Amino acid sequence: MQAIFGSLARRQLAQQVSTRYNGGALITLAHAHNDASSNPGAGRVSEDLLSRLKDKDLAQTLGYIGDEWTPASDGSTYPVMDPSTDEEIARVANLKGRDTNAAIAAAHAAFPSWSKRTAKDRGAILRKWYELVLAAQDDICTLMTFESGKPFKESQAEFVGGVASIEWFAEQGRRVEGDILQTVHGDRRQLVIKQPVGVCASITPWNFPFSMVTRKNAPALAAGCTIVHKPAEQTPLTALAMAKLAQRAGVPAGVYNVVSGDAAAIGNAMVQSDLVRKLGFTGSTRVGKMLMAGCADTVKRISMELGGNAPFIVFDDADVQSAAANVVASAFRNAGQTCICANRIFVQEPIAEEFEQAVVDNVRKLKLGGGMDPKTTLGPLIAPNAIERVKGHVDDALAQGGRVLIGGSSPPDLQAPYSKGYFFQPTVIADATPNMKIYREETFGPAMPVFRFKYDEEAVKLANDSEYGLAGYFFTTDLSRAWRVAEQLQYGMIGVNEVGITSEVAPFGGVKHSGLGREHGKYGMDEFLEIKYIQMGLGYSN
Ligand code: ADP
Repeated sequence: MQAIFGSLARRQLAQQVSTRYNGGALITLAHAHNDASSNPGAGRVSEDLLSRLKDKDLAQTLGYIGDEWTPASDGSTYPVMDPSTDEEIARVANLKGRDTNAAIAAAHAAFPSWSKRTAKDRGAILRKWYELVLAAQDDICTLMTFESGKPFKESQAEFVGGVASIEWFAEQGRRVEGDILQTVHGDRRQLVIKQPVGVCASITPWNFPFSMVTRKNAPALAAGCTIVHKPAEQTPLTALAMAKLAQRAGVPAGVYNVVSGDAAAIGNAMVQSDLVRKLGFTGSTRVGKMLMAGCADTVKRISMELGGNAPFIVFDDADVQSAAANVVASAFRNAGQTCICANRIFVQEPIAEEFEQAVVDNVRKLKLGGGMDPKTTLGPLIAPNAIERVKGHVDDALAQGGRVLIGGSSPPDLQAPYSKGYFFQPTVIADATPNMKIYREETFGPAMPVFRFKYDEEAVKLANDSEYGLAGYFFTTDLSRAWRVAEQLQYGMIGVNEVGITSEVAPFGGVKHSGLGREHGKYGMDEFLEIKYIQMGLGYSN
């Protein structure tokens, strides 16, 4: 199994460490990265970040196992960077497989008593967690913005959506109900009960450091499962603050564990353990497929929310100004780094020029910068290699006849402290065609290609021409067109005249290579429940 899990994230991290530190004292830090003897494993947080937190105890740098804040067993730590400045903001315990096994054991030990509590009891603890998280909104948004680079306003929007998941699942736990079946045997009764699946592993990505935690961990707790959570190595601070608040809310020891560090080692331990009965993952299709293969050995339940390449179709009867404003909001959200961002824009020929102009007008209003600057509406990418990927897609599109309407490169003029940040200008490319990389591959950055089409069928065919099937959007004012296209698009989620499709009550998830299972809503609860059928012989017949 070790061989299957080539340490993709680990290699990326090592690469970032070696490329980012190129001067003075920071070199010492970089080399201390894997050196247990020179590093006590205590972790630390930068003065700048700490000084902005009202509740400094939320800045945790150790793993959370059982009820203990725990350094890595080998004492190592790793750096967490601010993508808008390329500066270290924290060093965090670099947990490994052995630490993960300890967390799994703690979660396993806590499962019997947690699962036996009433849903009402668990709901009350979740409600308390919700209230504490709500009260910590500013600090959580600050942590999110520092480690992910997203503008503070976007952190606030993520917060509002994410905290709603806790509230909703705190209530929904009480609505988990079984069935009494209409028996076909007069002397027997048949029924179905639902029980928590057991220890759940959750692996979350860096692009939503907060809301991915709540949407995975809140339903698990509500269902009566215990958790071992691995946040992305780039954004552990928000996740650790959430564990701190869960601890304060009275989530019992061992029910909620967080291991941050060596992705491949942690992932291996989770996948290989027979004690872990479910793995929930949000991240790249590549890593998701490796994890799926790994889970086969222990026949775990899996939920996978993987990549996307969302189509956005603008029909000739659409409200062009609204479509343009919405596509910009979607395509450049989180600097284009969400799996449901509008990626491929298809516009019907008669309105194409008007639409492209309106898009450019909206893009011009975006302001690049650091997330804590209130004027910023577009933040950096997560890492330097992400800039290379976006640039590669833009260059390829231009080489194949694409036309830059705005943007096209890294910004030449950002002032310190952002001059070293991982920025790329918001970019719109007209005359895009299906032979371009930007059509086929997920760009995951602020570059938006516009394709023109003549007929409805052509647009649907192009939209479905992708291995992915997460979110799809279209704008039209024609009701029959709306139904027809919504039913024809091979996507798990559809936005009609609307891009803000995520909510705690609606099933989030994809088809094809975009994943398996659904999060949120009543469907999301089912992912954490096993169905058990019980037949009772009555000893008499009616
Ligand atoms: P991205 O390329 O967007 O960072 P990834 O799929 O690499 O997406 O990351 C999503 C999550 O998966 C993160 O928490 C990351 O640490 C984790 N991850 C990456 N590689 C592995 C692996 N081999 N095993 C388990 N988790 C992994």
